[in-house]
Amino acid sequence: MRAPVGVVGTVLALVVAGSCTPQVIASTSEGAGQHTSASPEPSQSVKPTPSPDSLRAPAPAPGSVKPPPDKDGLPPVVADIDTDDRVVFFTIDDGYTKDPKVLEILEERDIPVTPFLTRAAIANDRGYFSRVEEITGQDVQNHTLTHPQLPSRNRSGQKTEICGTDEAFQEWFGQRPWMLRPPYGEWNRDTQLAAQQCGIDYLVMWSVSLPTSQLRYQIGNKLRPGDIILTHWTPSLGPALPAVLDDIKKQGFKIAALQDYLPAR
Ligand SMILES: [Zn+2]
Repeated sequence: MRAPVGVVGTVLALVVAGSCTPQVIASTSEGAGQHTSASPEPSQSVKPTPSPDSLRAPAPAPGSVKPPPDKDGLPPVVADIDTDDRVVFFTIDDGYTKDPKVLEILEERDIPVTPFLTRAAIANDRGYFSRVEEITGQDVQNHTLTHPQLPSRNRSGQKTEICGTDEAFQEWFGQRPWMLRPPYGEWNRDTQLAAQQCGIDYLVMWSVSLPTSQLRYQIGNKLRPGDIILTHWTPSLGPALPAVLDDIKKQGFKIAALQDYLPAR
């Protein structure tokens, strides 16, 4: 019963996850090391003053968050959040490009983005993502060790990718991820079982993507409460962000912390 759902999800995901391709991975890997200036900054951090540009939503009222339905006791697959709050969620995947400009924007606009990181993509400069955690107050989450198409592996192979990342991030960042974004949005029942065995509580997909500079909606032509936006740590992210954030604001939304709505269980 679940297999066809997974297949449909996969096809959709492949269509929208434009920039999440092996080519991007290959080309950006070659540039490894070129963004070293963003490594942990000496503590010259100027206290950010609350800015009128802040897009951060207040934390949800206690008891107002509806947990996603939990079928068959497996980690639920979540593509958007069931909420009436005028909030959306901003998730950024992979981690090959470490652009200092993006850190500045995250700080200025005060947005709680959720990083779904691939271990191989960040190993050369994980300090950049420690800064992201400090600036946003969000924990890094799991996007596997090497970014494979998980359904092409057996359950044990999937477990290696998922548990290995959780263990590495626990050591590097001091917190074990509890959300998994399967690369390319591809997953099957073995992914859910492997994720569960690794302590993952949710498989997180998306309902809106930002392939380059404009939001692309899977449903309709504007944001809806609870949309999860997918984008990537790429060279185009910094240049695109200011206008995209203005667009989100103009549509009457703030950006909420995904981990407030999908807390560790
Ligand atoms: Zn990816």
